[in-house]
Amino acid sequence: MKHFRLAPLAFALIALVSLDASAQDLNATKATASQSNEAIRVLLITSGCCHDYDFQTKKLQLAFEKHGVPVQWTVVNEGGNGTEAQIDFYKDASWAKNFDVCIHNECFANTTDPAYIRSITQPHYDGLNAVVIHCAMHTYRGAEIDNWRQLLGVTSRRHDHRSAYSVKVTKKDHPIMETFPDGHTIEDDELYIIEKVWPHTTVLATSKSEKTGKDHPVIWTNQYGKARVFGTTYGHSNSTFDDPQFMDLVVRGTTWAAAKR
Ligand SMILES: [Zn+2]
Repeated sequence: MKHFRLAPLAFALIALVSLDASAQDLNATKATASQSNEAIRVLLITSGCCHDYDFQTKKLQLAFEKHGVPVQWTVVNEGGNGTEAQIDFYKDASWAKNFDVCIHNECFANTTDPAYIRSITQPHYDGLNAVVIHCAMHTYRGAEIDNWRQLLGVTSRRHDHRSAYSVKVTKKDHPIMETFPDGHTIEDDELYIIEKVWPHTTVLATSKSEKTGKDHPVIWTNQYGKARVFGTTYGHSNSTFDDPQFMDLVVRGTTWAAAKR
C-alpha cells in the first residue's frame, strides 16, 4: 500500500523533470531561431589593383539577399586601384570590433610593411572570422613575414592564364560544398598556383593547370588562431560574380565562417 502511494508521486516528479527539459529544448530552439534571423555583421575590404570591385560588391550583396541571408554591410573601398597602399581603416586599433566576419576581396601585392600586416592579421588571430577571395591571396605577397599567408591558409605568388577551369570537389560532405556541383566549370578565371598549403587548411576543391596538369586547391577552409577562414582563388572576372554556383558558394562559405551555419 505504501509503495502504491509513492508511485504516483514518483511519476509526477518524472513528468515535472521532463516538462522542464522540454521547456529548455524550446528555449534553445528559440535562441537558435533568433540567432539565425540576426544579420551577419560583414566587413568587406575591397580595393586595389586589377578588378571591378564596385561590380563585385553589388553582386555579393545581391547574392546574400537572394539566399535570404540577412547581412549588415560595412564596405571599405580605400587605397585606390594600384598594387600598393596602406588603408586608413586599419589605423584604428579596434577596427575589427563589432564584426562577425571580414571578407577580404582586395589586391595590394606590393605592400610589405610587417607592422601594417600584423595590425590586420592579429585581430583575425584573436577571433575575427575571414573570407578570402581571389587577389587577397596575392596581397602582401612580397612580405617577409608569413602572418597573412597563415591567415589565408595557402601560399600563392602567381597564376596561370585566364581560361575555363573545371572544379573537382574533394570534400563533398563539407557543409559549404553540399550544393556545389562536382565538375562545375568557372568559365573565365585565373588558376592560382598554390605553392604551399598550411597545416590547418582543409582543401574542399581543386582545379587542374592546363600547363602542368597539376591540381591546385581553389576552395578551402582554414583555422587561424580563433578565426574560421573560408577561401577561394576564383573571382577574377565579372562573369564569375555572375555565376550563381560561385555566388552560392561564397554565401555558404561566409555563413560558415561567420559560424551561422
Ligand atoms: Zn585577378
